[in-house]
Amino acid sequence: MNIPVDYGAIFSVSPSAKLLMMANPPLYTILDANNAYLQATATTREQLVGKNLFEAFPPNPQDMASKERTSYSFEQALATRRTHLLKEYRYDVPVPGSDAYEECYWTTTNTPVLAATGEILYLIHSPANVTADVKLKQELQLAEERARLAIESNDLGTFDIDMLTGEAVTSKRFAEIFGTGEDASRKEFVQLIHPDDMHIRQKAYEEALHTGRLSYEVRIIRPDKKIRWIKAQGRMFIGANGKPYRITGMVQDSTAGHDAGDQEQKLITLVDNSLELMSVLELDGTNSYLNRAGMAMLGFDTREQVRNTPIAELHEPEDFKQVEKEVLPAVMTHGSWSGTMMVRNLKTKEVFPVMNHAIRIDDPVRGVPIAVGAVMRDLRPELQAKQALEKSEELLRTITAASPSGLWKTNAAGEIEYVNQTWLDWTGSTFEDNRRNWERYIVEEDRQKTLAAFERSTQTGADYEAEFRLLNADGSVRWCLASANARYDQSGVFTGMVGTCVDVTEQKRLQRQKDDFLAIASHELKTPVTTIKAFVQMIEQMLGEKGLATEAGFATRADKQVDKLIGLVNDLLDVTKINTGKLQFNNAVFDLDELVDQVTADLQYTISSHQLVKQLGGSGKVLGDRHRMEQVLINLLNNAVKYSPGAKQVIVSSAVKDNEFHIEVTDFGAGIPEEDLAKVFDQFYRVNHAVNSNVPGLGLGLFISAEIVKRQNGKISAKSAKGMGSTFTVTLPLHREN
Ligand code: ADP
Repeated sequence: MNIPVDYGAIFSVSPSAKLLMMANPPLYTILDANNAYLQATATTREQLVGKNLFEAFPPNPQDMASKERTSYSFEQALATRRTHLLKEYRYDVPVPGSDAYEECYWTTTNTPVLAATGEILYLIHSPANVTADVKLKQELQLAEERARLAIESNDLGTFDIDMLTGEAVTSKRFAEIFGTGEDASRKEFVQLIHPDDMHIRQKAYEEALHTGRLSYEVRIIRPDKKIRWIKAQGRMFIGANGKPYRITGMVQDSTAGHDAGDQEQKLITLVDNSLELMSVLELDGTNSYLNRAGMAMLGFDTREQVRNTPIAELHEPEDFKQVEKEVLPAVMTHGSWSGTMMVRNLKTKEVFPVMNHAIRIDDPVRGVPIAVGAVMRDLRPELQAKQALEKSEELLRTITAASPSGLWKTNAAGEIEYVNQTWLDWTGSTFEDNRRNWERYIVEEDRQKTLAAFERSTQTGADYEAEFRLLNADGSVRWCLASANARYDQSGVFTGMVGTCVDVTEQKRLQRQKDDFLAIASHELKTPVTTIKAFVQMIEQMLGEKGLATEAGFATRADKQVDKLIGLVNDLLDVTKINTGKLQFNNAVFDLDELVDQVTADLQYTISSHQLVKQLGGSGKVLGDRHRMEQVLINLLNNAVKYSPGAKQVIVSSAVKDNEFHIEVTDFGAGIPEEDLAKVFDQFYRVNHAVNSNVPGLGLGLFISAEIVKRQNGKISAKSAKGMGSTFTVTLPLHREN
């Protein structure tokens, strides 16, 4: 059944605004308007009926598109013959009594009214003013935009977790903070939380179940193994069953805050444990901070006391003037002040010097001074150390001045750093005179040799020893024996030489006297002893001829003793020659092995106690004095026999090694104690052992032998151990004929 529609009735009573127009585009002539419409547009029927729509409601010339939008909807309605809905579109209305328009939004339905024939009769235009809604929406959008910006600029990552599915929607920044991919699941994020902090999150969740608000801060271990602090804040939505079904919120990387906090804590610990006073002085004249060392230095017990004590009390009134007039003005105008000043301990009242470095602290933003920072070092220990040093230096000077020897010290560069008074007295010089060229006081002939030895030592750190003549202040000459050792600091770095200089003038004089005496005595003895030998031999011969065998035997024994005497005199003469540089050599090329062979054989005739075992394997010639070499061999062989009374054998061996001729004489006697080994080649040196007391000798044989070997470019050495026998080795370079 077809119910007839009474459009007129519906039209007029409809609570929504309605306008009846002709379907005559583009004019759309108004036929009628219902009350709701007239009310909404503040018009009267008379003003509208008969007018075209866009004349009655001219569009805002600033927004001509609004007319097109409206026409478009009408056209759609006509074309489709159905109601067309146009949502939230703008169509401004004029402000009465002015040219201005008010921004308005509408949601409109445009409905064609059809005749029974299907022809379009009219259009019903039904606009609803939705300006308030649209404005609200716009504001909301703006607010949302602002929130999004705020979130982004605060580096916040957002999350939205569906607790039923476990699905997490997270922002790009959220994933960045966690260092994961953007599509990581909730489980993956949770697993990154530091195990030690898991309980913090757990507790926050439990609390959120009651409050609906989630807030916690934990560490995470990111997939790249970096540890970060994150702060999470959000809302928990709890369902009717008391279980959360959704959590939304934000996370923030709060590492920097922690770092800054840690950093600050570290700095405070550092400052508090500094051995120097550190303080912050406020502009009101009190210290707002004083570290522990400072509290102890100035006699404070509590921090409160520090804050309540004006700094004027930390100085004697006289000393505070410096603070007021010099220190603070300098800090304020130049930014800093460094120097010494006096402070006072509140408890002990002791006044003492400190080295103060004060700086102005400016507000980093405003750039105006806000405080004064100070670092002060208590100078008392330094002063005490300095005094102690001065005292010990004084003591050292006194002691060294009393020394009969010259004492000196150089730095690593070999410059004199110290010489004692004794040296200054000797040379009549000042310390400054000696600092660079102390050598000018050495007699010219000795200067170069001494300086060379000195430089070698300062450059290599080797022990220094030199004998030289020193020019006294009065022009006389003093013999000096200088020696020094290298000094090193704890890390083994060479710091210089420390040495002595002993006056040996007297020893030198005695030595010369002795040498002179020896020279004269041996020379004077030589002739009579040789004469005695000649007469003894004559007597021996004559007694023999007379058949007086016993008497002749006495003469033979006398002759042997005379030989010994001649030997001693010869030794003394040789020593004299050596000491005066007059030992002569008649060098020739000769076969050394043959000499060894012959000397050993000859000597064996006179020796019955020992067998001289030859192990000769040397070949080749040497250049030297055959007679002198014979002297060396006899000396070594005689010593070997003399000092091994209990043994039966002495071994003489020879060989050529590395272009050198080696001769070894080995005995099986008492041996030579280690400490004497090097000294047996010294003049008049005899080892103090039991065997020696029965063996006559002057301690010259080895001295002479060593000199002879050295003069022929050879070497002599001894190897021995006490009770193990000895081996003396002589090496001479092989002669090369070219
Ligand atoms: P002298 O034999 O006249 O004492 P030398 O200069 O020949 O003088 O020897 C010096 C010292 O070296 C001797 O007094 C002795 O103590 C020691 N000496 C030398 N040769 C030997 C040796 N083969 N065994 C043990 N001691 C020796």
